[in-house]
Parts: sequence; C-alpha cells; structure tokens
Amino acid sequence: SKVESNDTAKPEDNVNKTEDDDKEDRAAQSLLNKLIRSNLVNTTNQVEVLQRDPNSPLYSVKSFEELRLKKQLLDGVYAMGFNRPSKIQENALPMMLAVPPQNLIAQSQSGTGKTAAFVLAMLSHVEPVNKWPQCLCVSPTYELALQTGKVIEQMGKFYPEVKLAYAVRGNKLERGMKIQEQIVIGTPGTVLDWCAKLKFIEPKKIRVFVLDEADVMIATQGHQDQSIRIQRMLPKDCQMLLFSATFEDSVWSFAQRIVPDPNIIKLKREEETLDTIKQYYVLCNSKEEKFQALCNIYGAITIAQAMIFCHTRKTAGWLAGELSREGHQVALLSGEMMVEQRAAVIQRFREGKEKVLVTTNVCARGIDVEQVSVVINFDLPVDKDGTLTMRHTFTGLGAQDALGKRGLAINMVDSKFSMNILNRIEEHFSKFLSFVLCLTAFFGG
Ligand code: ADP
Repeated sequence: SKVESNDTAKPEDNVNKTEDDDKEDRAAQSLLNKLIRSNLVNTTNQVEVLQRDPNSPLYSVKSFEELRLKKQLLDGVYAMGFNRPSKIQENALPMMLAVPPQNLIAQSQSGTGKTAAFVLAMLSHVEPVNKWPQCLCVSPTYELALQTGKVIEQMGKFYPEVKLAYAVRGNKLERGMKIQEQIVIGTPGTVLDWCAKLKFIEPKKIRVFVLDEADVMIATQGHQDQSIRIQRMLPKDCQMLLFSATFEDSVWSFAQRIVPDPNIIKLKREEETLDTIKQYYVLCNSKEEKFQALCNIYGAITIAQAMIFCHTRKTAGWLAGELSREGHQVALLSGEMMVEQRAAVIQRFREGKEKVLVTTNVCARGIDVEQVSVVINFDLPVDKDGTLTMRHTFTGLGAQDALGKRGLAINMVDSKFSMNILNRIEEHFSKFLSFVLCLTAFFGG
C-alpha cells in the first residue's frame, strides 16, 4: 500500500539517492544479516514448489542422511551444528543434488538456509581429482563473496582436496595461468574477466553456476549484464541456480534470463500480525514533544528491550544524543557506520548490554531481535516512495508471539501526514489500533 506524499515530510536522507546507494544499502543489510545471524529464522509458512516437470515425483527430505552425501560433507554439515534440513533445504537439496542436475530459482528471506544449501550442492558436485574450476558462484559484493567463501570453507572442512579461489578485485594472477581450484567465488566483473579476457577459467568446464543475492545484484545494471554474459559462456547442461531474498518482477525477469527451465521454490515471509501486539499512538505537535513523551514512558519501555525507529539518520542521531543527555544508556545503529560496527552494536543489544536501540527504518530493515517487546515508531515507518515498511518493525515482535508474550508498539503521530500513515497502517492490518493515548490527557503535555 502506498501513502500519498503530498506533504513536506520527506526523508532527507533519501532525497538524492542513486541506484548505487540503494544497492549499497541492500548489500550492507545483507552482509549485516549474515554477520549477526547465528541460526535459522523461524518460519511457519509452507514452501511453494513449482516443478519444471510436474509429473515427476516431488522429493523432499527430512534428514541429511537421506541425501546420500559424501561422508566428508555429512561430517561437515554436522560439525556446523545442523541437525536437519531447513524448510527450503528440504525441497531445494533433493532438486539440486538430483541426477541429472536440475536448475533452480529459490526465493526466501535471509536466514532461511539458502547459502548453506547451495554450498552443499557445489561441494557435492565437485570432482576433487579434476584440477580446474567446476563450480562458479557470483555474489554482488566483495564482502558478500568472502562471507559465502567462509561457509564453503567451514562445510568443506573435512574435504580438504576441494579448493576454493576468490575472483575479487585485488586478487591479481599471472597472465596465462589456469586456476586449479575447483570452486571459484567472486563478483561479476572479476569473474567475467577471468572467464573471458584473462582466461584463468575455462567456462565450458563449469558444471554448477550459482548466482546469489539476485535482488541485490540487479540493483546495479552493470552486474546484470555481466552475469548474463558469464552465463552465456557456460555449457548448456551446466546446472544454474539462482537465489534471492525478495522477488519483485525485476528479479523474476532477470532470474528467467539466467536460469533456463527452472524449478521454482518460494517461501513466503512470515505474515505480520497485529493481533497480539498492542498498538498505541501518541499525539504530539513536534519532535520535542515526541521526545518528552518518550521520556515519560521511558521507565515502562525499559522493563523489557525496546527499539526506537526514526525516519532519518539525523533524527536518530539527535534522539540518541538527547536520551544520553537525560542519562539513559542507549545504543545507536546508523547507516553511516561500517557494517562491522553495526553488527557489533546489534550484538551488544542482543546480549542485553543496552536496553534501547535507536535506529532508522532503513538501517534496521530485516533485522530481527527476538527479545524486543516494545517498538516505538518515533516517526511512522514509510520508505522513500511512501510505501509502508511496517514489516520491518514488527517481525521482531511477531517472534514474541510464539513464546506467548505480548508486544507493544507505540506510534508517535505529529502531523496530518503521519495521521494519514497511521490510517494506512490500520487499513493494512484491517484493524483499528486498539488504544489511543493522547499526549495531553495521559502525559500532561
Ligand atoms: P540464507 O542464505 O538464506 O541467508 P544461511 O544459509 O546463511 O541462510 O543460513 C542462516 C543461518 O542458519 C546460518 O547461521 C547457517 O549456519 C544456519 N543454518 C543453515 N542451515 C541450517 C540447518 N539446516 N540447520 C541449522 N542451522 C542452519
């Protein structure tokens, strides 16, 4: 749902956003999720499977043993602490490991086991005696490629004959040499150079091609073209696998260009529900009044852990500063911080070292911190085109429901524009916010 922004409340951070900024945001968020995630996200949704050949039986596995993996790999999987396949792995792994190999397009949110799945598929398909690249994986950024590389190294711990090379900027090789590592992971530009111009890789010998984070990838036009050029150099019977956290139309059309005759697996995001989350809103006239209202309820919200969302970095920085000056210990998560710094802030918050985390909607996109039971929308959550971004604010709370706890969301409304958004939120959830707190009535203004 869209909110008409015929108003002045334009997020100042986003005014001059370019395609590259957007891509950087997405890549940074994706990296952040990888850095802070230590286990699978909980999903209760069913996996949707669309088979290329609808007549062939649909296999799914409930255990890693059923996959008949090489011993070295099964040991690697267990050493990583995996007991059983995740929801998407149940369906994706049998398809990826089938003989003959099948192509796959898979979409599910971050943290559902996609990386582990394709890493296992690559490792399974390698012939270690052959000293040339057989699996090729492209990632949108250097940092993301390194993260995936780490998973390959971890999972292949007991399979040392399989070697890994990084096709990333700065990794300069001698002209005329041929790569002997069986798995190559890299960014599209360097991978393309290594295949086409420098010929370090013989693309015709590639058996498995993985394109990871397609949604981040397509945010850069150049990456799309490079990926397609790489794909065209591969043999027709090379297995093509594409993964994405989201599935807009643009991702879908790109996916179909990369992956011919695909099987398709989709796992819907957890539906957000407001049923067990108490909604409040506070009417204020200005930023300062909102701050005052926040101070008034501060004691109540810090009984548990709270996240406070602001629309811009500037407001988030200001608010964190003001709260600190009042003597409150708060953490600030902001877009200008390095990804590693951000991961450290989230980690501290997770460990309960701070009870309140102030952040921007954009920066906290897709981050779930399970123990958060209070969400304060200091500014109501809309993104740069006025689309509601409620989901990001509520997934953390959603997780509480499973534990039978109740969440609390406080929306701070300071203009007609935000009232309008609030109405949209109500519409979105087809439910009226259950409580109305007027600042003047309850907090004495
Ligand atoms: P995605 O690529 O979808 O973001 P990952 O493959 O990175 O998801 O998995 C998310 C987290 O869950 C990682 O910490 C990973 O080690 C862990 N994980 C993946 N598969 C399993 C599994 N079958 N059992 C337990 N943990 C898993």
